[in-house]
Amino acid sequence: MDSSKSRRPANKVIMSLLRTKTKKFCDGMIFFGGGMAALFLCWSLWRICSVGIISMPLIGSNTSSQLRVLKNPSSIVVQQNPRENVGLKSESGLEKKQELQSRDEDGDQLFEKEWERSADNFYADSDFSYSVGKTIKNWDRKRELWLKMHPHVKNYTKGGNPRILVLTGSQFQPCKNPKGDHLLLRFFKNKQDYCRLHGLDLFYNNILIHPQMITFWAKIPLVRAAMVAHPEAEWIWWIDSDAIITDMEFEHPLEKYKDYNMVVHGWEKDVYVKRSWLGVNAGVFLIRNCEWSMDFMERWSAMGPLSPLYVPFAKILSDVLPDRAVTDSDDQSALVYLMIKEKKRWADKIYIENSYFFQGYWLDVVRTYENASKWYKEMENENPVLKRRYAEKSGPMYRKMKEYYLHKRGAGISQRKPFVTHFTGCQPCSGNRNKIYKAEDCLQGMERALNFADDQVLRIYGFQRHGLLSSRVSPIAFSN
Ligand code: MN
Repeated sequence: MDSSKSRRPANKVIMSLLRTKTKKFCDGMIFFGGGMAALFLCWSLWRICSVGIISMPLIGSNTSSQLRVLKNPSSIVVQQNPRENVGLKSESGLEKKQELQSRDEDGDQLFEKEWERSADNFYADSDFSYSVGKTIKNWDRKRELWLKMHPHVKNYTKGGNPRILVLTGSQFQPCKNPKGDHLLLRFFKNKQDYCRLHGLDLFYNNILIHPQMITFWAKIPLVRAAMVAHPEAEWIWWIDSDAIITDMEFEHPLEKYKDYNMVVHGWEKDVYVKRSWLGVNAGVFLIRNCEWSMDFMERWSAMGPLSPLYVPFAKILSDVLPDRAVTDSDDQSALVYLMIKEKKRWADKIYIENSYFFQGYWLDVVRTYENASKWYKEMENENPVLKRRYAEKSGPMYRKMKEYYLHKRGAGISQRKPFVTHFTGCQPCSGNRNKIYKAEDCLQGMERALNFADDQVLRIYGFQRHGLLSSRVSPIAFSN
């Protein structure tokens, strides 16, 4: 008791001292805390001003699906979750992403190993061939099995459309025309641009894969080889090196061709009534990757230089097609011949397209570019949303929107940008143009078509040429 009594005053002193010290300490802390808060506020404001909003939800995503911006000493890094449309990422998330990716790769390898061991692996068959002259039997079934055993490879695009492999090519030697190689580069760039914009694979060949199948016949062995090299491709789109895609937004209406195995540009009447060798154009076509096409390639190439029938067919073709001069058998006449003479077997599966420029004869088409541009500009002025800026990868949505307004405005073949402009007879590489055309018309036409197409690509990059024959550009005035 005593000790407690004697301790009481001492305790009181200590408590009062402590209280005084605590009060002073608390005052100090409040002051310090206030200062820190002010500093933090200043720092936050400075961060917001210097880097902008550092975490923002995306349109159409829920709150858990946000982009996180990782702060680097010198830059800002945005990581996306590979398993979701968008996902939260952190440093450890980055490791997780890498782990998921490597697991995916392992998974792909497992499928490949399984295929390698499988009895269905037709690539391992002793009679497997990439060449015409040796067909692959039951190709449809074989492709189906391949697709089944490769679930990680899709035969359709992100947009859900059947996958197209774009195939083109040119000769293996340098061009004789001094401007030829530069022109071919630009013709190729045009196709490469289109494929990048639409997520398509492109194969450019510049070697003769069958020594006898020369000139316009060279594409047939190539298409045949590409069919088996790309079982994931539903369609092969052959496009001559002298053809330019001049509507960079348009896509083939594949739904329309669902009951057909081949699509060419032409006119039924010219094929079946006039029996003209110009009834269709064989320089641009779509062919389905299927057994029918495998057989058709065999039949078609049997009229080419690899076949003993090649010489007699020079006359046979001209007998059947009255407007054809007696010259060596050519792929286009052979195609028209098969459509007429073996209609039931082949023609019922060949769609003759002319509702749009599946391929357009350059002399008819090159003078329409300015009018098409004017028509599109009017449409954009009526609907300013079409004048907005967007990222290249956002293209599909904006293309759909454009397509909607084109349809609404009743755009027909004469208002739309021609899909493909084909410079038949201009021979950009060799320079041996058909003498019915002036060299200047061919050159100027190609320049205009290439620039017209390239301007549509440059639009995404914010620039536009001063004219279709100009190599100067200016920034585009967009609507916000
Ligand atoms: Mn051509």
